[in-house]
Amino acid sequence: MIQPLVPRLAIIGAGLIGSSMARAAREKHLAGTIVVADADPAVCERVRQLGFADVVTQDAGDAAEGADIVIVAVPVGASGKVAEAVGPRLKAGAILSDVGSVKGFVVEAMAPHVPAHAHLIPAHPVAGTEFSGPDAGFASLFENRWCIVTPPDGADPAAVEAIVALWRAAGANVETMSAQHHDLVLAITSHVPHLIAYNIVGTAAHLEETLTSEVIKFSAGGFRDFTRIAASDPTMWRDVFLTNREAVLEMLGRFTEDLTALQRAIRYGDGDALFEHFARTRAIRRSIIEQGQETAAPDFGRRAAEKPKHEDS
Ligand code: NAP
Repeated sequence: MIQPLVPRLAIIGAGLIGSSMARAAREKHLAGTIVVADADPAVCERVRQLGFADVVTQDAGDAAEGADIVIVAVPVGASGKVAEAVGPRLKAGAILSDVGSVKGFVVEAMAPHVPAHAHLIPAHPVAGTEFSGPDAGFASLFENRWCIVTPPDGADPAAVEAIVALWRAAGANVETMSAQHHDLVLAITSHVPHLIAYNIVGTAAHLEETLTSEVIKFSAGGFRDFTRIAASDPTMWRDVFLTNREAVLEMLGRFTEDLTALQRAIRYGDGDALFEHFARTRAIRRSIIEQGQETAAPDFGRRAAEKPKHEDS
C-alpha cells in the first residue's frame, strides 16, 4: 500500500479553506488520518455529518497532538491565539502552517508559540469564493490556483518542501517569496479590490432611497461583480485590513493617484488618455485568461461552472 504524503494532518478551522483542504486530502488520499478542529460546536457537528475528517474536536491543542502537519485555517486575527493553544502540543519535527491572506502579521503572531523542535512554514492559497463555512468548501478549490509559501529566514528546507509538496498534491501551483513581498503584492491584487467593492456597494446602499430598484434591476453591469465580492466574509476581511494596514494604505495611495488621473482625463475630455488606459487593462485581463487563472466564458463562467466561481483572495 502506498504511504500517504502526511501520516497525520490536522486542520484548525473548518470553514471554506480548511474544509476544502480536508476534502482535497481525503479525495486524493494525501493523509493517513485527517483531524479537524473548530471552536464552534455546530461547525464540528456539521463536519461529522459531512464526513471528510477521521477525527473531529473543538480543541485545537488536542487536534495538534501527534500531527505531522497542522494547518491553521481561521481568520488571520485569531491565528496567534490558535498558535498559543497548538504550540505546546506540537511533536518533534511537526510543521505548523496556515492559509491566512496576510503573512507578515501571521508570522509575528504565531512564531513566538512554536517550540524549537517544530517548524513554522506559512502559506496562502490564492483561491476562494465569497462563501464561508464547512458547507462552502470543495475538493477542487485549489486546482490550478497559486499557493504562496512564505518560509521565514533560516526555515528548514525539508519542512518547506513538505508544505510545497502538500499544496502541489492538492492541485495548486506553488511559489515561494518573503512574507513582506506577499503582503505588498496581495494588497493590490486582492485587498484593495475588495475594499473598492465594499465601498462601491456601500455607496450605492447610501443612495438607496432613489436607487434601490435601479441597482437591482441593472445589476447585470459591472456592479453585480462588485456585489459578489462585497458579500465576502466580514470577519475575514476586517482582519485582513487590520493586519496588512501599511501595504494596503501604500497601494490605496497609488490607486487614488491613478484614479485622479482618470478623473482629470474625463473632466478635460482626453479621449486618447482614456482609450490608451482601457486598452492596456484589457490586455491584462487577456493574459490572466491565457495563464488559466480565469475563464473567458460569457458571464465570467458563472452559469457554466458546476462549482461556485473561484476568486483569488
Ligand atoms: P470561514 O469559512 O469563516 O472559516 C473559518 C472557521 O474558523 C470558522 O468555522 C470559525 O468558526 C473557525 N474559527 C475561528 N476562530 C477559531 C479558533 N480560535 N479556533 C478554531 N476555529 C476557529 O473562513 P475561510 O474563508 O475559510 O478563511 C480562513 C482563512 O483562510 C483566513 O485566514 C483567510 O484569510 C484565509 N483565506 C480565505 C480565502 C477566501 O476566499 N475565503 C482565500 C484564501 C485564504 P466561527 O464561525 O465560530 O468563528
